[in-house]
Parts: sequence; structure tokens; C-alpha cells
Amino acid sequence: MAILSIDNVSKIYQSGSRKLTVLDQVNLRVEAGESIAIVGPSGSGKTTLLGLCAGLDSATSGSVQLNGHRLEVLSEDQRAAVRSKEIGFIFQNFQLLPTLTALENVMVPMELKQRKDAKEKALELLQQVGLGDRATHYPSQLSGGEQQRVSIARAFANEPKILFADEPTGNLDTDTGEMVEQLIFELNRASGTTLILVTHDVELAAKTNKIIHIRGGKIEREQHA
Ligand code: ADP
Repeated sequence: MAILSIDNVSKIYQSGSRKLTVLDQVNLRVEAGESIAIVGPSGSGKTTLLGLCAGLDSATSGSVQLNGHRLEVLSEDQRAAVRSKEIGFIFQNFQLLPTLTALENVMVPMELKQRKDAKEKALELLQQVGLGDRATHYPSQLSGGEQQRVSIARAFANEPKILFADEPTGNLDTDTGEMVEQLIFELNRASGTTLILVTHDVELAAKTNKIIHIRGGKIEREQHA
């Protein structure tokens, strides 16, 4: 069964009298457990598509179904509840909260933070990404690669069904980027999470099951591994 279904989705931005069609009647199905990469030139609509799939933004028309939830009929609060229950997100610029320690950042998505085992689980996740000894460090005390590893631990904290990643290695040097890639795929395989990522990196894209090529707001072709 498809865990994510995008049907005839368009996104149009209006600025004054000008209309910009960023996504034009896009259709996409992602099966549970699949990993897919969305690739295409800059400005082709990749980030917009990812944001619509993840319920961060709403489509101008069409339907987005995420694990049985039809996002376009939900209020912003309801969409936020679906996001916190169903998805994890990794951003290019990490987006950690600067006033929280690494451990506290990992605990942000956890529903029952006050439970004693929440802290233990967060620490376990930090250990899985190789940062067990950095739990009390603040983001400013961590390198870019370490911050991205904290954000990976955070993305898995609520045991998401789908993990979205927008250029997860875009701000990292090649070696650090490779380490971050490996971690994402390892955790993804171990948990059976569905993975949807946007990337410019052809090697990263080649590690997924399916590559979606997007150009000018349309899916040009789907390439299976
Ligand atoms: P990509 O991720 O492929 O680089 P984006 O999805 O970020 O592309 O953007 C696609 C197009 O939509 C670009 O032309 C961008 O300028 C435009 N765009 C993105 N967000 C907005 C917005 N909030 N308002 C107006 N135009 C936008």
C-alpha cells in the first residue's frame, strides 16, 4: 500500500498580477519502506514538492495522502499533529535549537519527554550516531557534521514512518557528507522507515530505490534502481 500518494498536485505562487506555477499536476506514489531521491535543476520545484509531501505547506490544488491522512482537508494544527506523529525531517542547515543541548534537541519531537526512558532513548540515539559523549554540548560547540548527526538522531526520535531529507549533505564536506549518508541509510534500513530525499548529489541519489527527475515543476521520469 502506498504510504504517500500525490494526485494531480499543483502549486502556484501569485505575486501581484504574476502567477508562477512551481508544480504542475504532479503524481507520485511511494510504497512503505521505499527510498526515493528527488533530483533536478535548481528552481525546478524539488523543495516545494518535499514540503507539500511533508505537510509543511499546502498545495494550490490536488491531493496529498500521507499514511492515510488527506492533508488538504486538515487544519494547520491537525497537519502539525500528523507531522509530529508520522514524519521526521532533516534539513540542509540542521535547524537545531541553539539554546538546547544535543540531548534536549533530540528529545524535542518525543511525545512523552517527561518519562524517564525518553532521556535514555535520546541518549541511545546519540550513541547510534556516534555522539554519546556530546550529549551536554550546545549546537555552537559542535561541528557542522556533528550538528547534522544530532539532527538525524532527532529525526528518528519519534519513530517516524517517513523520513524527509532536504539536501542533507549539502552543507558538509565530502567525507563528512558520506558519513552522514551512511548513517541515514543505516538507521533507515534498521527501522524500515520510508525515505524521501532531495539532493544534487548523484552518488547519494544512486543509493535509493527510485530516482524522480523533476524539471520545470513536472516529473520528467522515474528511474528504478
Ligand atoms: P528547488 O528545490 O528545485 O531548487 P524550489 O522548490 O525551492 O526549487 O523553488 C521552485 C520555484 O519556486 C523557484 O522559482 C522559487 O523561486 C519559487 N518559490 C519557492 N518558494 C516560493 C515562495 N514562497 N513564493 C514565491 N516563489 C517561490
